[in-house]
Amino acid sequence: METKSINIVLLGPPGAGKGTQAEILKDAFKLLHLSTGDMFREEVKAGSEIGKKLAEYMNKGELVPDKIVTDLVIGRMGKPDAKSGVILDGYPRTGAQAESLDKALKDSGKRLDVVLYVNTTDEVVVKRLSGRRICKACGKIFHVVNMPSKKENVCDICGGELYQREDDKPATIKNRLEVYVKSTKDLIKYYRDKGFLYEFDGGMQKEDLFKAVKALFNKLGLLNK
Ligand code: AMP
Repeated sequence: METKSINIVLLGPPGAGKGTQAEILKDAFKLLHLSTGDMFREEVKAGSEIGKKLAEYMNKGELVPDKIVTDLVIGRMGKPDAKSGVILDGYPRTGAQAESLDKALKDSGKRLDVVLYVNTTDEVVVKRLSGRRICKACGKIFHVVNMPSKKENVCDICGGELYQREDDKPATIKNRLEVYVKSTKDLIKYYRDKGFLYEFDGGMQKEDLFKAVKALFNKLGLLNK
């Protein structure tokens, strides 16, 4: 499907389903999916200097300081593959990051089109995250209940070993949710006040959620006829 250039901010607590929805939106509208969590994990895996710094915060479920995040994201948004639009997933997470983003978009003659807020209950989040397993080799995501691999701890796609993210362990999930709610209060208000924010129920089936989002895009005139 063709779109005009479209910039989306995708918000929601960890495990609400925003990552899954980002993948669907990316394919449907040919957007660049920019997940700060994924971007940071790549740095950590590469063992770069910045990766070592990021790991100190991530392993405790704490937010990485704004200055580091904003510099990394703005750098990525300047690359050619971000030209036709992006889905920002996991960024901004604070009012300060939203302001930095506004400024950076303005400086580069771009604008934000819509903020999608995918929300759900703590119970759903804990169930989803604590069962998540990821392939060490190819990154494919499984779930011990909802999407188990055929052979325990082995990737169906490439045979790689599956692991649980350090911050997907129950004790850290609780901390991540608390950090999320506390740190995004201002952010949600910021976008709501601007009239950009649209809330969706992340407990819905991913296909139904996508239909609802597409209907919104149509209503906002973001899709080419
Ligand atoms: P996620 O995969 O989005 O849950 O992110 C994993 C971790 O990366 C978080 O727990 C934070 O430590 C860090 N992180 C990701 N995005 C941001 C952000 N926008 N600001 C600060 N820290 C972030």
